[in-house]
Amino acid sequence: MIRIFFLLLMLLPALSVAEGAVQLALEGNSPVTINEVYHRDGVAYLAVDEVLPVLGLSGTWDSVKHVYSIKTPWGRAQMSPGSQFLRFGGQFQPLTNPPSFIDGRLRVDENFVAIHLPALLNLSVYYRNLDPSVEQMPTQSSLDRLYSFLLRKQKPADVKGLRAVAIDPAHGGSDPGSMGSNGMKEKDVALAVAQGLQKRFKMRLGLPVYLSRDADYSMTVAQRFAAVNKPEVDALILLHAQSALSESSRGAVLFIRRQEQRAENPNGDSMTLAVHLSQALSRAGIQVAAIERAPLLPLGQGDLPTVLVELGYLSNPADREMLGQSAGQERLAEALYRGLKAFAKQQ
Ligand SMILES: [Zn+2]
Repeated sequence: MIRIFFLLLMLLPALSVAEGAVQLALEGNSPVTINEVYHRDGVAYLAVDEVLPVLGLSGTWDSVKHVYSIKTPWGRAQMSPGSQFLRFGGQFQPLTNPPSFIDGRLRVDENFVAIHLPALLNLSVYYRNLDPSVEQMPTQSSLDRLYSFLLRKQKPADVKGLRAVAIDPAHGGSDPGSMGSNGMKEKDVALAVAQGLQKRFKMRLGLPVYLSRDADYSMTVAQRFAAVNKPEVDALILLHAQSALSESSRGAVLFIRRQEQRAENPNGDSMTLAVHLSQALSRAGIQVAAIERAPLLPLGQGDLPTVLVELGYLSNPADREMLGQSAGQERLAEALYRGLKAFAKQQ
């Protein structure tokens, strides 16, 4: 059960610097006042190093992997500057605003402190912005907007196969995603595999394929969904690659929405799609670690067959070799293409 005490007050206009203060506490403890509050585009940012001790947590910055790790009693949560997600175990918590280095310190916005981190770790947090300018009701967060995207399956019952496919190569631009020790970036791997997959659909089936991005630039989660949320899209694949503290973790992991049940198929079409993709990857000699239901995963709501594929681990030498070379990326694209084709055949 998550209880969050959150009071969002009117934020200062853009460009004001280091004014105001916030109060923060774990529920039941006396609030600690934090005076170093930076404002960017109307959003209050706090130094993550200053916030964590108040919540009984600590963190470390890995400048090689470009990852900030938060040590919690239940394991490590990780995030990167510019990244739209906070990762904890197999869960991804979408962030309203990416963490950012401002004035020499890694800073997170107040939603991170008041909503995202408590939701992920099941903490009860008291947060109050003391800036007295104007009091206001909580505004719709980007998280609400994200979940208001209904990815609905709109295919008429008498249409066979797939009409169009959407692919979301994760991250991009200032958000590299996970990074390998050799500097390999998740955003580049995801885009290469997405383009390989798109090429196959266009060449062999003449099928429209929508990519959320076709080059190296940043996007919000809402922009990604807007780009792929077309009425004729019958399947959505989100491509990621991950990184773990242990070098030994390897293999692809496929995520589907936690809740998706249809009368004729209690497991949902996303599960069917995930099984086809998993079988195709295995047949291509690519290790699949698991198919998982992910409660916090930004897969939107609805019943559009959707699978998030973690292609492999940038932290594992064998996976890294496959993910980083064009032959390996082509192998992944070919396997995913075959999985999608098998799914289309069954539809
Ligand atoms: Zn990712």
